[in-house]
Amino acid sequence: MKPMVHKHQSKKTIMVGKTILSIVLCFSFIVLLPSCKRKKLEEVVEVPLPSAEEKITIGHPDDVKADDGQFALTKLPYEYNALAPNIDILTMEVHYSKHYLTYTNNLNKLVAADANLTDLSIEDILKKLDINNTDLRNNAGGYYNHSLFWESMAPKAGGQPKDTLATIIDRDFGSFDVFKNQFTDAAEKQFGSGWAWLIVDKTGKLVVTSTPNQDNPLMPKQTISGTPILNLDVWEHAYYLDYQYKRKKYIENFFKIINWKKVSERYQEATTPKT
Ligand code: MN
Repeated sequence: MKPMVHKHQSKKTIMVGKTILSIVLCFSFIVLLPSCKRKKLEEVVEVPLPSAEEKITIGHPDDVKADDGQFALTKLPYEYNALAPNIDILTMEVHYSKHYLTYTNNLNKLVAADANLTDLSIEDILKKLDINNTDLRNNAGGYYNHSLFWESMAPKAGGQPKDTLATIIDRDFGSFDVFKNQFTDAAEKQFGSGWAWLIVDKTGKLVVTSTPNQDNPLMPKQTISGTPILNLDVWEHAYYLDYQYKRKKYIENFFKIINWKKVSERYQEATTPKT
């Protein structure tokens, strides 16, 4: 009998044990489930939400104003999104309202501090530049180069020039395609930051060249000097948001938005003797 009683008691103990285990499991499940939910919620809350200041807002180009000074911003002759998809809205906005504005404000400070520069045009400042004056070189260059660049582009533009300039491109390069290849090459092979240029040299001939940083062909001691009529910004800030490392694609698309009407006007101006 003793073993029987023992067996019965032991069976009862196992059953009680199972019941306790079930209750513990159920209880843990009930307690743990909401705590899991809580943890998930906390994780969601932990993700930082953008503050009002960080929200990306695209302003209007006309609302961007340089600080008072000798030089004003060249008005952007189209909206920030007007050159899309060849140049995206955010690149245009940052380029115009941040980079270009900074060069302009810096230039105005430098000009205000140097009586020799008062009332000089930007072209004259560049032509008379002391190339060792790095601050003036970078900011006067940055101001001039970008001012020219904005007007070198237009929506629904591109193609090829149709007037005198077309004849002159054929005369000096052989064909438009030869010019296009040379310009593309200059822009693509400019190592690091810089610009590609189409200029009129002192003999009246069209020449393609490139410059590093914010240098340009008006400055002294350039490899090739002349009057710029077209330029392309190949600094990464000009294309990296949209094109990343694909500079060649950016150059290719630039040809779809070149404002040849404006470039032709500049050609006429550069080759008309001043009276
Ligand atoms: Mn730029």
